Amino acid sequence: RSYAFLCAAAIDAARASLHEAEERLGRMDAIAGDGDHGRGMVRGVDAAAAAASAALGQGAGAGDVLAAAGDAWADKAGGTSGVLWGAGLRAFGETVGNSAVPSAADLAACVTAFADRIVQLGKAEVGDKTMVDALLPFAGSLARLIGEGTDPAAAWQEAARDAAAAAAATADLLPLKGRARPLAEKSLGTPDPGATSLAMVFSVMGPHFT
Ligand code: ADP
Ligand code: MG
Ligand code: MG
Repeated sequence: RSYAFLCAAAIDAARASLHEAEERLGRMDAIAGDGDHGRGMVRGVDAAAAAASAALGQGAGAGDVLAAAGDAWADKAGGTSGVLWGAGLRAFGETVGNSAVPSAADLAACVTAFADRIVQLGKAEVGDKTMVDALLPFAGSLARLIGEGTDPAAAWQEAARDAAAAAAATADLLPLKGRARPLAEKSLGTPDPGATSLAMVFSVMGPHFT
């Protein structure tokens, strides 16, 4: 199967896990935010999966499949996380391109592009209690492990475990960005919803991307 097919399968895997987690993510976002994180992620990923499948059906390459998925996600999700996820997926697609299956180093470059785009747009730093708190540890671990010669599938899963640990650790932080900021104190003890969903989604996408 082509890498474009695997990218569409990665989006489908994200879709399944986000549907399963929708309520839990919503409750998490309701503590200090507006409670729509589960709904927004589901709306975004549903649109992304439909766009990816349509692009695949038209013979698009991996890069165009992911760019179409990202644009649909940003367009349909509503909310901050949707804009960021959509832009990140587009950047991943632009980096992976349409021709060959990516090497391990290419894959690390795609994740770095995803992370860079999100940081550039959202301007959050590590410690602000956002998805960036899971994303940068993920991207950092993946690049380091791949640089050390670790097999990409194993590197991805280890990076995903680091992202999950980092997402859990955001429970101790006060949100400095986004809608949870005005009620920051209330969020103490609860992890950031966007960091939690990001770690979860990256974990299930790994077997397809690698
Ligand atoms: P909204 O906050 O617009 O309702 P969501 O509930 O879907 O959107 O997403 C909330 C998540 O978005 C937060 O948990 C956080 O992880 C992430 N987020 C908010 N602002 C930023 C930002 N400036 N940069 C990165 N991530 C952010
Ligand atoms: Mg919200
Ligand atoms: Mg909202």
